Amino acid sequence: MAHTSELAGERRVALVTGASRGIGKAIALRLARDGRHVVLVSRSSGPLSEVKSLIESAGGSASVCAADLGDRASWQSAVERVVEERGRLDILVNNAGITRDNLSLRMTDDEWDEVIRVNLTSAFVACRAAARSMMKGRFGRIVNIASTSGVVGNAGQANYAAAKAGLIGLTKSLARELGGKGITANVVAPGFIETDMTSGLPEAVRSKVLEGMALKRLGVPDDIAEAVSYVASDGAGYLTGQVICVDGGLTMC
Ligand code: NAP
Repeated sequence: MAHTSELAGERRVALVTGASRGIGKAIALRLARDGRHVVLVSRSSGPLSEVKSLIESAGGSASVCAADLGDRASWQSAVERVVEERGRLDILVNNAGITRDNLSLRMTDDEWDEVIRVNLTSAFVACRAAARSMMKGRFGRIVNIASTSGVVGNAGQANYAAAKAGLIGLTKSLARELGGKGITANVVAPGFIETDMTSGLPEAVRSKVLEGMALKRLGVPDDIAEAVSYVASDGAGYLTGQVICVDGGLTMC
C-alpha cells in the first residue's frame, strides 16, 4: 500500500537551487512538467525569470527567489520566507554548486571555504529550514545533487570532493532522522554532464573520461532531471538514503 498520495487538486511545491542554467534549469523544467509549483533559486533574477516564463508558457507554475547561498543567514531567511508564502515545501533539490579547483598543496583557505560554504553548508541550512514544514505535512523529498567526485575523489578537487562527500553523509543522516515522518532524502551524483561547469574541460581530459565510460558520451542535464523526477515523485516513497550515480557507467559505484 502506498504511504502517500498526490495532493488533491493542489500542486506540490518544489524548491530548486541553481535553477538559472545547466542541470538545475533542466530539473526545474522537468519538475514543473511533473505538475509541481517550482521555486527557482540562484543569484541572478534575470535568467530565473526566463526559466519562469518557459515554465509558464508550457502551462506550468513557478516563482523566482534570488538569493546568494554563500550568505548563510540571508539564505536561511529566504527558505523560511518561501515556506511561509507558499504555506508548504514538499520537494527540496539542493543543486547549486561551484568549483574552485587546485591541487591540495596549493589550495588557498578561500578556495576551500567558498566551496564548502556554497556546496555543503547551504544544503544543510536549506534542509534544516525545510524539514519543519515537511514534518508537518508528513511528506518530503530531499534530493541533494552531489558528484561522482564525492564518491571516488578527484585530483585537483579536494574542496569540491569533500563538499560532495559531505552531502552524502548529510543526506544519509537526514534519511535516518526523518524517515519516520514520511520524508525521504537521497543523493543524485552526476558524472560528466555538458554544462557551463564542464565547458572548459581540456580535450585530452574529455577523451580520457569517455574512454573509461560504458556509454561513451558525456551526459546532458536532462539525464539528471529524469533521475530527480523519479526520486522526487510520490511513488518513490520507499527509496531513501541512497546515492544514485548518473554517470554513463563511469564509476559503477
Ligand atoms: P552550472 O552550469 O555552473 O550552474 C550552477 C548553478 O548554481 C547556476 O544556476 C548558478 O546561478 C548557481 N549558483 C552558483 N553559485 C551560487 C550561489 N552562491 N548562490 C546561488 N546560486 C548559485 O553548474 P551545473 O553543471 O549545472 O551543476 C549543477 C550541480 O551539479 C552542481 O552542484 C555541480 O557540482 C553538480 N555536478 C555537475 C557536474 C557536471 O558535469 N556539470 C558533474 C557532477 C556534479 P548564478 O550564477 O546565477 O547564481
